[in-house]
Amino acid sequence: MAELKLQHLEKVYDNKVKAVHDFNIDIKDGEFIVLVGPSGCGKSTTLRMVAGLEDITSGRLIIDGKDVTRMPPKDRDEAMVFQNYALYGHMTVYENMAFSLMLRKVDKNIIHQKVMAAAEILGLTSQLNKKPKQLSGGQRQRVAMGRAIVRNPKVFLFDEPLSNLDAKLRGAMRREILLLHKRLKATIIYVTHDQTEALTLADRIVCMSMGHVQQIGTPLELYDTPANLFVASFIGLPPMNLFDVTVDGDKLVCEDFTYQLTGEQHALLADYDGKEIVLGVRPENVVENGTIQFNITNNENLGQNTLVHGHIGKKKVVAKLHYWATYKFGDQINIGFDRVHFFDKETTNAIR
Ligand code: ADP
Repeated sequence: MAELKLQHLEKVYDNKVKAVHDFNIDIKDGEFIVLVGPSGCGKSTTLRMVAGLEDITSGRLIIDGKDVTRMPPKDRDEAMVFQNYALYGHMTVYENMAFSLMLRKVDKNIIHQKVMAAAEILGLTSQLNKKPKQLSGGQRQRVAMGRAIVRNPKVFLFDEPLSNLDAKLRGAMRREILLLHKRLKATIIYVTHDQTEALTLADRIVCMSMGHVQQIGTPLELYDTPANLFVASFIGLPPMNLFDVTVDGDKLVCEDFTYQLTGEQHALLADYDGKEIVLGVRPENVVENGTIQFNITNNENLGQNTLVHGHIGKKKVVAKLHYWATYKFGDQINIGFDRVHFFDKETTNAIR
């Protein structure tokens, strides 16, 4: 178990690419932290710096009060689980799990106990004599986790562990990882580009873009109060609808509609009177009564809800309705918004 402090971590690669800018977080013992963002935003680089697989260009990494910034990976007491499993094909499941302990010359009986305990936790007891190629993708990923568990590390580092699995298995493995976290009470740093994984797994999410941390917070904080336009569009599926509007007294206006502000919203936007801002509306906050004309193009029934796609003026908009709707191409309805977000157009930051 461990507490980590990442202080002003930066990474500049040899080709001068600055992959990570001033990354700061204090991670509590047993916390599940998910780094999320689009491909190339610097999340793997950050994880690899924590693992010691990449040199830290500047800043400090502290684990349980000890500065490990320049410490080699093997001395950091961390275990990493990779996307491609990195299993040894010629070894059995048992040997794959036992290998790192054998290298460390751990006593054979202790290795046996640890492998059997990990296999039990992961439901691999009946697979121990098989080779990786005889296993399903989900089982291979479990072996990769087993290899980490037997080492009883202070910190587990997961690098996109589920991206090679199909959607159904990803969901199942996500729940297993959560149970594992509860059981091991381990500190976990987990990298993914998938906002659903971030929302479902994390105690706290770190959302990144282009090497910069955009927001750190609980899943609900990032969903409910995104710090800026980037987080607002990245977290939530389908993404938030965004409109350029002008503040005109107690209304927001644009070519295609007028939005009446509440007294509280009016006060919040007092400094923006006459200026353009961005209005954000999550698809689930579009309601089927109001004064805004919505021209429907598609009705996607997903079972438990319906995504209704269309346009307000020229602007594409998606609504998420919580029932089996049956709109058709060409239908016109009037909609409203039951919850909205405001963003400063210049800084892109949320206006609160
Ligand atoms: P992510 O994990 O979010 O997809 P990465 O951390 O892998 O992003 O990459 C962040 C940035 O650093 C990208 O611009 C990527 O091209 C660059 N990068 C990653 N690894 C290297 C490397 N070994 N040498 C140079 N640039 C790299």
